[in-house]
Amino acid sequence: MPHAQSRGTVAEVGIVGAGVHGASAAFHLARRGLDVAVFERGRPAGGPTGRSSGICRAYYTQPFLARVARDSIAFLAEFAEHTGGGDAGFVRTGGLYLHGPDEVAAARRTAAALVDAGVSVETLDGDEIVRRFPGIDLGGGSVAIAVREEQAGYADPHRTTWGFITAARERGAVVHANTRVARITEAPGEVELTTADGLTHRVRRLLLAAGPWTAPLAAQLGVALPLHAERHVVALLGPATAPGATAATSPAAGAGGDAGVLIDVAGGYYAAPQPDGGWMLGGLDPTPPVDPEIAPAPVGDAEFARLAEAALRRRPGPPARPGEPRSRAGSGADAGARARAGGWSSFYDVSPDWQPVIGRITQRVWVDAGTSGHGFKLAPVLGDHVAGLLVGEEPDPGLAEFGPGRFTAGELLAAGFGTARILG
Ligand SMILES: Cc1cc2nc3c(=O)[nH]c(=O)nc-3n(C[C@H](O)[C@H](O)[C@H](O)COP(=O)(O)OP(=O)(O)OC[C@H]3O[C@@H](n4cnc5c(N)ncnc54)[C@H](O)[C@@H]3O)c2cc1C
Repeated sequence: MPHAQSRGTVAEVGIVGAGVHGASAAFHLARRGLDVAVFERGRPAGGPTGRSSGICRAYYTQPFLARVARDSIAFLAEFAEHTGGGDAGFVRTGGLYLHGPDEVAAARRTAAALVDAGVSVETLDGDEIVRRFPGIDLGGGSVAIAVREEQAGYADPHRTTWGFITAARERGAVVHANTRVARITEAPGEVELTTADGLTHRVRRLLLAAGPWTAPLAAQLGVALPLHAERHVVALLGPATAPGATAATSPAAGAGGDAGVLIDVAGGYYAAPQPDGGWMLGGLDPTPPVDPEIAPAPVGDAEFARLAEAALRRRPGPPARPGEPRSRAGSGADAGARARAGGWSSFYDVSPDWQPVIGRITQRVWVDAGTSGHGFKLAPVLGDHVAGLLVGEEPDPGLAEFGPGRFTAGELLAAGFGTARILG
């Protein structure tokens, strides 16, 4: 028998991709009693998910995603109870979101809508920001308002994904790691998947959750998804950045560190505190489209310096002695090089409006992709909605807005603030 004809798995639902979205959907399908087969060309969380900063906030302008994020944060905080074991590594730090003068009204509107949705947020004006977070430098008026979210934090994307995969397996799911889906064909009553090892697998329904590699798979079914990949970096800024600095006086641990996760929309970057007192930094703006088949270049010196300088300018560190000006030892052009503690790059799978793309694309195939750099924290509960779609449950009305048909219908969604559409 020719190799390509060899029979592989037969399952009710197939999932391509074991990033956090495929893994979460697998768990929610398996807990509904469905027979699930996951195909992952590497290992679970081996793609962009494993490179995620893992920041978890419900500070979204989009009401459905705000609800999903709110509930996902609660899920991550009680991961073991929901999955029957495992630990998502969730750390609640609180979040602080800084906006410039032109975004005051939008920030107030967003915060009010979130409060109505049961998300604990409050707005702080300039004086209040300085009083509550004295280490933050408002940059001569570049920050006019902040929003504080107490429940925000960060989680571990590897542990979260593996937690879902383990829980799905315990409920009967089969996970094929190191198994690339090379060809997808839809036939009456089933979808046929040919994997790179030559096996042919048959499933009744299929979910494409292949991140930046989703569009070429959909194209095999004649469906054009307008997704593109962007390279984005994460830079680690160590705790001991200034000569002679101690953990207590280093800029990374400076006053204002108690802000927790900082999303500085006015400054164009985010910063998540690290257990060692350093920060994990990333940008908020789009970057040019790239080919996700080509490994992304590592973090460049200039990229690192830009992020480090922006972060250190905002939180320059405490004064050496009371009454003296704040230390600027860690800021300036040379600070980044001295403080550099590592970093990495990976891909965002970006949709035209920077919002996820979720819905049915053919008779038997659904998609959950295009999470545009903000999809980690959505996955725990979005996976439940996606599982419901695949089994024909009545969908939440909010989910309908994310269908792939919105692009051809010209119904793009609003997202985030200005160029920081990554805030969703
Ligand atoms: C640097 C960085 C920082 C981020 N920071 C945050 C953050 O702080 N907070 C947040 O909420 N989100 C963040 N994100 C976004 C978040 O990580 C993603 O939205 C999320 O991980 C996407 O998960 P996914 O499962 O959809 O896709 P992916 O993680 O891309 O997984 C897709 C999987 O499909 C597999 N695959 C592809 N093609 C095939 C094939 N043909 N056959 C079999 N398998 C295949 C891949 O190997 C991959 O494992 C960040 C992302 C990056 C890259």
